[in-house]
Amino acid sequence: MQKSNDTNSIISALLEARESRWNTKLSLVKYGWHLVSLQLNVPGYPKSSECSEQFMRLIENEFERYLICRAIGKYKKEKKKAKDAAGEWIAFLVPEANMGAQELKDLTEAFEESHEYGRLIDLDVLDSKGKAISSGKAKRCFICDESAAFCRNSRTHTIEEVRKNMFHKMETYNELCYDAELVSSVSKYALKAMMYEVALSPKPGLVCRASQGCHTDMDYRTFMDSMVAISPFFQDIAQLAIEHKGNDLSNVLPDIREIGLLMEAAMTKATFGVNTHKGAIFLLAISVFAAIRVIKKKKGVFKSNLFSSVVQQITRGVIQRELCSLKESSSLSHGEVCFMKYGLQGAGARGEAEQGFPTVMHHALPFMKEHFNDQFNKLTDKELANQLIPLLLKIIANNNDTNVLFRHDKTILETLKQKATMAMEAFQRGETSIYTELVAWCNENKISPGGSADLLAISLFVHFCQTDTTVL
Ligand SMILES: [Zn+2]
Repeated sequence: MQKSNDTNSIISALLEARESRWNTKLSLVKYGWHLVSLQLNVPGYPKSSECSEQFMRLIENEFERYLICRAIGKYKKEKKKAKDAAGEWIAFLVPEANMGAQELKDLTEAFEESHEYGRLIDLDVLDSKGKAISSGKAKRCFICDESAAFCRNSRTHTIEEVRKNMFHKMETYNELCYDAELVSSVSKYALKAMMYEVALSPKPGLVCRASQGCHTDMDYRTFMDSMVAISPFFQDIAQLAIEHKGNDLSNVLPDIREIGLLMEAAMTKATFGVNTHKGAIFLLAISVFAAIRVIKKKKGVFKSNLFSSVVQQITRGVIQRELCSLKESSSLSHGEVCFMKYGLQGAGARGEAEQGFPTVMHHALPFMKEHFNDQFNKLTDKELANQLIPLLLKIIANNNDTNVLFRHDKTILETLKQKATMAMEAFQRGETSIYTELVAWCNENKISPGGSADLLAISLFVHFCQTDTTVL
């Protein structure tokens, strides 16, 4: 008895919703508008869920873009949204003077047919006189290939089967769109982090907007060319992270490195052989992969502790495998030579990654939390530089930079770290002269803390993941 009462109340709520929708539509078209209504035909009850609402938002945006581009100057961006017992529905309004109702119907038909998930949606057209415009074409069932009307009338599929199939498809599409957005966003953070790093001026010994630092073979434009060449590959790494199944990350580093090698080749080609970003490529490639894993796992939220742990999982054993077994040879990289000479202190980018970016986690991030204004876009260029310079100094003061160790020695590294600490403290008091002296000292003595510059980029990348991940 209770059940039939519930069923009756659902049926009456649905009937009421349908009548109210119809009246709303008629009241809208009387102003001289044709109306396209977008809805889902979900059988059974309830008619909507978080999943279906997200799906509707995606289709709504896609259909509106579609309409704007195919009815340029005719579609006036008028729409009304409503939600009732029959689900969510959206009315797009097109002035009758601008377009014929049949032309509008043809557009909606073409949209349904061209969209991979078009069978899940219904786009109905009502002309400005309140008359429903029919295409005369039979719509396909989205489970089998029969006509939708045939399956409905012959009850080929149970309501449960249809609902399950429909919600599964919507969920798949929602996730597909979410992943695409995630790939795009995280790749952009990587590029943005590199750009902010190199643009920061002046920097001690490093290439920046205003100077080549202590370098003679590269300048700001070399970095621009290199960033343009390597940035598309961040999307490939992000996609690799999206497609990685399971929780075991012990075997992903070779896959990341394969893309990393393509990036190095693109960099070398763009810079005519100058190494602008080798360290940054290694660190950012791992970071992009790790960030995607974290944001996916935490359903849109970036957690820096988890990020650090994922970086460790990806790079576990890399020092043992790649550095401990080295033998003296003329073909060793800078990082490898440093490790042979200084042990763990000279483990460089590999060491930093295998420990989950300790300089970033224990020094840069707490510093940023204490001193940074989160919204970079509200800062002027000068104000931003005033935040980033002390951050770079904090990193230099705490990092065993293998670029410095390789070109100089431990004494110079320690002197640089001390000078950076003093310059940072003075800079925060508003005294910039010690920083200016440090910049000159590095430029004159050809001291270029490139490893610290890379860690500044990683710190910025993490910052962007934390503050900009809003749409995800
Ligand atoms: Zn069917």
